Amino acid sequence: MLSHSFSCYVIIRVVFLHNRAYYFIDLKGLVLMNISDDFLKDLIKPRSAIFLEMEQYAKDNHVPIMQLMGMESLLQLLSLQKPMSILELGTAIGYSSMRMATKLEQASIVTIERDEAKANLAKAYMERSGLQHRIQVIIGDALEISANDLGNSKFDAIFIDAAKGQYKNFFEKYAPFLNDGGVIYCDNLLLNGLSELPMSEVPRRKRTMVRNQHQFMEWLMNHPDYDTAFLPVGDGMLVSIKR
Ligand code: SAM
Repeated sequence: MLSHSFSCYVIIRVVFLHNRAYYFIDLKGLVLMNISDDFLKDLIKPRSAIFLEMEQYAKDNHVPIMQLMGMESLLQLLSLQKPMSILELGTAIGYSSMRMATKLEQASIVTIERDEAKANLAKAYMERSGLQHRIQVIIGDALEISANDLGNSKFDAIFIDAAKGQYKNFFEKYAPFLNDGGVIYCDNLLLNGLSELPMSEVPRRKRTMVRNQHQFMEWLMNHPDYDTAFLPVGDGMLVSIKR
């Protein structure tokens, strides 16, 4: 059923906080089937041993690395874009930067992480995989880094995956570092489903973060200098092409 005329279906996603389901509907809105994340994950190409190890480490230690479907989508978009230089905000243990470096063999990557222990672990993984010459890890708060720290470089792609709720600050600070025609990718817009809940159902301590993320999405979708699309993959991604 999946194989025939798969591409003509519109895919919508219904998020339950602890149980995700995907529904495939045709253009008249008829629900044809639903399948679980597990099924989709089985379709993803196998990763090398070091990436499987990092995924397990992240799971065991509650490090929020990119969700697999989001990661695969980002890599596919980057393969189409073919950036030579990428800036990432939010290294964590280096998973996404190493996956980008592996997929895009010509690209050099600069990634910023404020948690020193995580950054050092990322560097260790990069050395083990021989990627340390292509990925520069800068330890520090991305909101305090200067153009000098970045070697006054500009980038073809910027990937924002750091503190949720601060995306507008990140975007405004780093947009001037984007080359003309470049693309800014932002992950985590769905906030693991929180973003889609009525505000009354969002835990009080998370409401500011959710409101900030909503305001950021609206601001960016209407930004005159960027052509932006929201992709409901992984934890929700915004893809903004500089006009
Ligand atoms: N991109 C990583 C991956 O998929 O492998 C995951 C990044 S994780 C979602 C977010 C990371 O951003 C955390 O490690 C956090 O310490 C870092 N972070 C949050 N705010 C930051 C800031 N202002 N400057 C630098 N790093 C920040």
